[in-house]
Amino acid sequence: MAEVEVIRADNVETIADIPVVIVGGGGTGLVAALAAHDAGADVLVIERDKSPAGTTAMSTGLIPAAGSRIQRARGIDDSPERFAQDIIAKTKGRVDVAMVRRLAEQSAHTIDWLTETHGIALSLVEGFTYPGHSVLRMHGMPGRSGGELMGALADACERAGISILTEATVDRLYVNGDDRVIAISATRPDGSSDIIGCGALILACCGFAGDQAMVTELIPELEHATFHGHPGNKGHAIRWGQQLGAAMADLSAYQGHAGLAAGYGIPILWPLIVEGGIQVNKAGHRFANEASGYSEQAVKVLEQPGHVAWSIYDETRHQVMLQFEDYQQAISAGCLVTADSVQELADKCGIGAEGLAESIADTWRLVDNGQTDRFGRSFTGKAKLAPPFYAVRVTGALFHTQGGLEVDADARILRADRTPFPNLYAGGGAARGISGPAADGYIAGNGLLTATTLGRLAGTHAAGHHIAGAGC
Ligand SMILES: Cc1cc2nc3c(=O)[nH]c(=O)nc-3n(C[C@H](O)[C@H](O)[C@H](O)COP(=O)(O)OP(=O)(O)OC[C@H]3O[C@@H](n4cnc5c(N)ncnc54)[C@H](O)[C@@H]3O)c2cc1C
Repeated sequence: MAEVEVIRADNVETIADIPVVIVGGGGTGLVAALAAHDAGADVLVIERDKSPAGTTAMSTGLIPAAGSRIQRARGIDDSPERFAQDIIAKTKGRVDVAMVRRLAEQSAHTIDWLTETHGIALSLVEGFTYPGHSVLRMHGMPGRSGGELMGALADACERAGISILTEATVDRLYVNGDDRVIAISATRPDGSSDIIGCGALILACCGFAGDQAMVTELIPELEHATFHGHPGNKGHAIRWGQQLGAAMADLSAYQGHAGLAAGYGIPILWPLIVEGGIQVNKAGHRFANEASGYSEQAVKVLEQPGHVAWSIYDETRHQVMLQFEDYQQAISAGCLVTADSVQELADKCGIGAEGLAESIADTWRLVDNGQTDRFGRSFTGKAKLAPPFYAVRVTGALFHTQGGLEVDADARILRADRTPFPNLYAGGGAARGISGPAADGYIAGNGLLTATTLGRLAGTHAAGHHIAGAGC
C-alpha cells in the first residue's frame, strides 16, 4: 500500500467524480451514506475489508439517545439536557460541552430516523442502566449485537442503491490550495490503485487502536492490554489530520473494558457488575469500585497479578445477561465457571477461598447496612449474591480510541485556528470523542453516539454542501 499522505494539487486526473465520498464502511460510514443519500447526493463508501463491518460489527450495538419515540412509548422521561449532564459528569467536566449538548440534542432524531425511515429494528434496552446513565436510554437490535446493526445498515444502503467499494484502502488525499479535498486514491490488495474525485469527503475510518506503535506512544498505560477492536483502524484520519494542520484533542482517551474473557476474547458485559456482581483478584480480594465504569476498570484489572481478575456473580445476574449474544457465545465457548458454594467456586477458579468468602460476605453487609465501601461503591437495593455462583476469568482490553479530529456542529473538521476545512468531515472514532482525556470519561454508548449522530450530521451537511454547488 502507498504511504498514507496528503498531496497538494490543484488538478488531478480521476476515473470518476462522486459528490460525497466516505472513507470507511463501519457504523459511521454507513449512517453517513444513508444521510447523504436521503439529502439527495450520490455517495460512495470505500472500505478496506471484504465487507463493511469495522468495530461496529464487533460491538454490542447499543446506541444512547434522549427523547426518542421508542423511549416515550415506554414511558421514559428523558431530555437532551439530562443526557448531556450525565456525559459531562462522567468526564468531570473535561469535555467539549457544546459538542456534548449538540450530540445529546440530535441523538433522538438519529434513532427516530434510523427506525422510521430506514427500518432499523431498534428497541429500548430495559432491566438495568449502565454506570453514569440516569435513565434507560440505550437502543439496541433484538439480539443486542453490533453485527445485527451492521447487517441492517448494509441492507438499508442496498435498498437505497448506495455503492460500497470494498477491498480498497484510501491512502492519499489530494488537497488544493484552498484546503479543499479534490480527490482520493484507493489501493487494492494487488497494489493497483484508482484516483476518485470528490465533492466532499467524510473520514469514517475510526481511530488508531489497530496501530500498536501509536497506542504505545499515546496511551502507555495499555502496555499489557489485550486489543479487542478492529485491526483495520490504523489511525489514518489522524495521520492525514496531522499533515493538514487539523485541530486534534484527547488522544489519550479510549474505551477500555475490564471484562474480556481471558483466553477466549469474548466480552462479558457490565450488567452483571452493575446489578451487584464484583471483581476479585487471585487472592479473592476486591480492588476497586467496579461499578464506576468498565472502561476505567480495565487498567485496574491489568494491575492485578497476571493482569487478570474474576467477575463473580450468581443466577439472578446470569438471567439478566442471557439477552446478550456475546454472553450466549461465552456460555457456548465454556468461559463460565459455576459452583454451589464459595469454597467450590474458589477451588474451580484457583483463587483464594478465604479472600473470596470475605469479599462476598462484605457485599452482604453492605446490602444490609446501606453503607458505601472503601472504594466508594454502594450495594443498596441490590439482591445479595447467592448460590449457585458464577465466575469468569477476565482481563483488561482496549476496544477503541476516543481522541481524534475536532469537528464543528455539522461535523466539519476544524483547522488548528478552529476554522472549518471547506469540504472535509469526520465522525465516530475518527473525530474527537466526548469522553474527556482518559478512560474514566467513557460512558457506555459514547462510541456509537458519535458514530451515528456525527455520521448523520456529516452525511447531511456534506450532501447539502455539494447540492449548493460548493463541490468540485
Ligand atoms: C466489543 C465492543 C463492544 C462495543 N459496544 C458498544 C456499544 O454497545 N455501544 C457503543 O456506543 N459503542 C460500543 N463500542 C464502541 C463502538 O463499536 C465504536 O465506537 C464504533 O463502532 C466506531 O464506529 P466507526 O464507524 O467510527 O468505526 P468502525 O466501525 O471501526 O469503522 C471504521 C471502518 O473504516 C475502515 N477503514 C479504516 N481505515 C481505512 C482506510 N484508510 N480506507 C478504507 N477503509 C478504512 C475499517 O476497516 C472499518 O471498517 C464497542 C466496541 C467494542 C470493541
